Amino acid sequence: MSQNPVTPWIKTTCAYCGVGCGIEAKPQRNGSVLVRGDDSHPANLGKLCSKGLALGETLVEAGRLSYPLVNKQRVSWNSALTTVAQRFNETIEKHGSDSVAFYLSGQLLTEDYYVANKLMKGFIGSSNVDTNSRLCMSSSVAGQQRAFGSDSVPACYQDIEAAQLIVLVGSNLAWCHPILFQRIKAARAQNPQCKLVVIDPRVTTSCGEADLHLDLDPGKDVLLFNCLLKYLANNNLVDKDYIDTHTDGFDAALQSADSESKGIQECAERLGITTAKLEQFYRLFSQTEKVLTLYSQGINQSSQGTDKVNSIINCHLATGKIGKPGSNPFSITGQPNAMGGREVGGLAHTLVSHLGFNESSRQLVAEYWQTNNLASKPGLKAVDMFDAIASGKIKAIWIMATNPAVSLPDSNKIKAALNQCPFVVVSDCVSETDTQAFAHVQLPAQGWSEKSGTVTNSERRISRQRRITVSPGEARADWWIISEVAKRMGFIHSFNYRHEAQIFREYAQLTRKAHEQTKHSLNLSGLAELSDTEYHDMAPQQWPVTAKQTTPTHQHLFGDGKFDTPNQRAQLIPVTYLPSPQTLTSQYPLRLNNGRNRDQWHTMTRTGLSPRLSSHQAEPVLQISPVDAAHHQLVDNDIAQISSLAGSAIMRVLVSNSVKPGDLFAPIHWSDSNSYGGKISTLGQGITDPISGQPEMKSTPVNLKRYQANSQALVVSRQEQPMQGFSYWVKQTVQDGFCYFIASDDSAADLNRLLQNLAPTQKTVRVSTEQSDQCSYRFAASNANRIDFAYTISVNLNFKQYSWFTGLLNADTDQAALWVSLMSASPQGDLSKGRIICACKQVGENQLNCAIREQGAKDIASLTALTQAGTGCGSCIAELTEQLKTTLIN
Ligand code: SF4
Repeated sequence: MSQNPVTPWIKTTCAYCGVGCGIEAKPQRNGSVLVRGDDSHPANLGKLCSKGLALGETLVEAGRLSYPLVNKQRVSWNSALTTVAQRFNETIEKHGSDSVAFYLSGQLLTEDYYVANKLMKGFIGSSNVDTNSRLCMSSSVAGQQRAFGSDSVPACYQDIEAAQLIVLVGSNLAWCHPILFQRIKAARAQNPQCKLVVIDPRVTTSCGEADLHLDLDPGKDVLLFNCLLKYLANNNLVDKDYIDTHTDGFDAALQSADSESKGIQECAERLGITTAKLEQFYRLFSQTEKVLTLYSQGINQSSQGTDKVNSIINCHLATGKIGKPGSNPFSITGQPNAMGGREVGGLAHTLVSHLGFNESSRQLVAEYWQTNNLASKPGLKAVDMFDAIASGKIKAIWIMATNPAVSLPDSNKIKAALNQCPFVVVSDCVSETDTQAFAHVQLPAQGWSEKSGTVTNSERRISRQRRITVSPGEARADWWIISEVAKRMGFIHSFNYRHEAQIFREYAQLTRKAHEQTKHSLNLSGLAELSDTEYHDMAPQQWPVTAKQTTPTHQHLFGDGKFDTPNQRAQLIPVTYLPSPQTLTSQYPLRLNNGRNRDQWHTMTRTGLSPRLSSHQAEPVLQISPVDAAHHQLVDNDIAQISSLAGSAIMRVLVSNSVKPGDLFAPIHWSDSNSYGGKISTLGQGITDPISGQPEMKSTPVNLKRYQANSQALVVSRQEQPMQGFSYWVKQTVQDGFCYFIASDDSAADLNRLLQNLAPTQKTVRVSTEQSDQCSYRFAASNANRIDFAYTISVNLNFKQYSWFTGLLNADTDQAALWVSLMSASPQGDLSKGRIICACKQVGENQLNCAIREQGAKDIASLTALTQAGTGCGSCIAELTEQLKTTLIN
């Protein structure tokens, strides 16, 4: 008797952030995929955050782009590829090679990136190839290039366990890189002497763990670190031997720092913090041997991002705290393969393998690629690239695996540019995004579980992403799509790839040649001769790789004091604090910061498909201080219209002490596809760092006013519903359907009539209730004892009180209780959980309150034991702690 073969767990890598967690995935007979953390992966050691754990829930065919389309009509692959090749060739022939561009993504695999870069820079002969990594990492790239001579991160994750002081700057690590934050917590539990300092204008979830929080005014990081450099020098706390032996530029950097402020007291005043706090930080930094400074978008996404990076690196170089276990500056990347893309030249200002455009590098690459048309100079960076589309200089663009109509600042301008661009190609796995709306040609690419290739995480570790499921329809690998277009453009022999392993070997061999010439750290010579099977089975490798690594290494760069500069000495860069050019005015008196939510990723095209992930924060919420809320006559749960020089948005209000007076905070995730007015990029002005070209995203001057709706509604429906025409709406994925939050200029009675027209009509039982004195209406349509469509309307709907409504479509509650809940607005049974705090175990606010108030939970251990909250990925522990504190106080 034959036995069913047991499906093995397949080792792969998470699709989301730059931590690069190892995953094990197992496809099931019913088409679903089980996901768990990979114990053997050195990045996460078996743990995953809520996003990684929910990856299986996002693998749905609905919404996939499955077939090639030209002008929204299905065509064959050959026809689509030929159309792209011909239009690119015609445009280049008529207007030159700089009239075309590629816009790539940190979601692409290294092999995809390599082929795209090779086609544009090597054979089309232009460097107009840039990536959305420009929006999150390019200031770190530029800072590292200036200081170290190459874009190389010296640190590795084991520094977390080795450090005695960890400094988080401009990074809400608890939400944005949760597994690293959990490593910090575990390391501090093992070593209570290890201190944590958080530097952030906001009180973030990460602050809950901190020994010291420096809530300095936004954007003043250069001032903070310059003053630290001066403090170190004035108190003879620099490492003079290290400075003399291994660095250049100390005197000039110190001179700049010296001119910055008269002393600590004045500096503290300018930073907006107390002198005591500032001195405490400086003492900690100078008196601790092993200091790890982790920084992220709060540093990078600034008009002075590159200088901020160098101000941090300057302090590490001046104290010799670099290249050693526990002591490093550490840029944490946003996307899963931002690093891989940078390595193969995905940014417009670099060539490939960390090479520049000097003659010897160009010659090396031209010979290796056998081309006589290699680009001679850097190309246009992201913001400039879309400006060039708007001005008509770029006439054909190919956008791969990204959604610039949402993610780039000043999105109205980006949309206008795409709208008038003569030829727009989009290759993506998603069929409807704000960007797809402008595509003349849409090419179906493989999604996360279908791809095969490699990604590099923040600690330079290359991991395999492996194919787990078959692709729907005719979706193909990005490298295949690009190669097929290249061949049709006439570059047959240079793009004749059969397998991703072949591309990886070609790239690894190129790093060997580049390393031989430049002696730069990036070197994959140990992987240059891998067989296809060895590539398939490759374990994570941390570069440099001079021999294939069979067990995980934890290497630092520059530990010997030799850097990638021509004289092998690191450069301290003189920097001076510059205020943001986006100045506040009486018309726009508030400063808008933005960032990620705990359970969402980028523009939600993938995480937005998971009901679990969507339950944590259903709407885009604007955080405002009590002072500013009072001034603008706003209270919790109001709706605010936000305006800037570039555009407007509309969001739910949360009054919170986590932002300082004068500051606001909003999430980045919503788009025109799932909201009206929730897209924060509409407000951005596209101001960039002059060195890195990275846009300043976190410092937009705005104004506010309250939106007074005539009626508001919460709708649940098994089918998607048209929502055009409302002043405010947001769509949330819930179990078995969708939930819509609506605010309208219509009266409650008119809205009631409008929404009833959306209800399914066939074989339904329709029940409604109306309290005309309060202008409130509730309605439900059910079929075969299940609710298909329901809504509640009132003039001022308190959505927090109605969070149970989103569970109506699949409530584990008997029908009678369901109707009682619905008609009396009093949730029964499973519906009464409240807003979900723990996404993994689906534990809500009301359950937590009950455990604290009625069941005697006094600490995290008893709260998690009573409710199971926090026992999944652990990302919610900080919020549980907060709720415990607040409920016990009240
Ligand atoms: Fe994925 Fe979370 Fe790990 Fe980031 S921290 S790689 S999102 S599991």
